[in-house]
Amino acid sequence: MNQFSKLSQVVLAIAATLGAHAAATAQDKVLNLYSARHYQTDEVMYETFTKTTGIKINRVDADDAGIVARLRAEGSASPADVVLMVDAARLAVADAQGLFQPIKSAKLDAAIPANLRADATADGVTWTGFSTRARVIVYDPMRVKPEDVATYEQLADPKLKGMVCTRSGSHPYNLSLFATVVERLGDAKGEAWLKGVVDNMARAPKGGDTDQIKGVASGECGVALTNTYYFARLIKSNKPEDRAVVEKVRVVFPNQATSGTHVNIAGAAVAKYAKNRDNAVQFMEFLSSPYAQDYFANGNNEFPAAKGLKADNPAIKAMGGDHFKAETVPLGVVAKNLTKVQQMLDRVGYK
Ligand code: FE
Repeated sequence: MNQFSKLSQVVLAIAATLGAHAAATAQDKVLNLYSARHYQTDEVMYETFTKTTGIKINRVDADDAGIVARLRAEGSASPADVVLMVDAARLAVADAQGLFQPIKSAKLDAAIPANLRADATADGVTWTGFSTRARVIVYDPMRVKPEDVATYEQLADPKLKGMVCTRSGSHPYNLSLFATVVERLGDAKGEAWLKGVVDNMARAPKGGDTDQIKGVASGECGVALTNTYYFARLIKSNKPEDRAVVEKVRVVFPNQATSGTHVNIAGAAVAKYAKNRDNAVQFMEFLSSPYAQDYFANGNNEFPAAKGLKADNPAIKAMGGDHFKAETVPLGVVAKNLTKVQQMLDRVGYK
């Protein structure tokens, strides 16, 4: 080895050290986000977070199942700091697999109602809801009276025989709703209710929520279940066929005189092996701010989760989503009842 190559090796070693140091410093200003939400408005909000904190967001987009698979495969080597998922049932399943870590944050405690978060333990809280959506009933006013679909319980009433349409009972949106119904009614009445819903079906469960709304408009279904944002999308649509669907169906926010309408969440948690934990908590707190709440909710026609904030969205207002009584059963019961509900669905033949 000649003098020159020795020198160049020293220079390279110094450069490598400096580079490593630069990387370590950059690491401090980075947040790795695994997201199952993909909206343009979210990106604007993330840019604001980076501008105000200097923390760069690296986003990995996947669907909920893809995120869970990835976190499991990566294990303790996972770069994920924050995980964003849609629906309490999915968050509960990921949590049960040990993919999240509990955090303590006075800001989150103050901003987000406890019923929209995982049950608190001595170590803190794992997942937190940042937007809410209601699971509402849509019906055909030519066939069904509003007073006959005022509650979820009435979906099992023989009056609605041959009229009820839903997507698969095992879909997270339905599992979450059923978990809270079973919590309120108790196991025996809860299962009898599920059986009654199955007995009333117009067809075997199929399709997504929008397909159920369209099923009501076409006359195949008299009554169906949907998340509010799917209906809001139809309200906002410029397509004549979507306008026609909206005109043919009505929306009910169920259980207004009793337990309130079931609401679910899009939410986030700090990943179990987060390398940038402080940045992750800071990001979660940012999501609860009024600024971020507005973007987060409107990105998917949802409602803000933070206390004291209302949906500021014409489509939501048009369907009455800015003033309704929401269920207060903690979404933590979804985790508790999930397996039980799935077994009930098998027993009553809810596909
Ligand atoms: Fe959805």
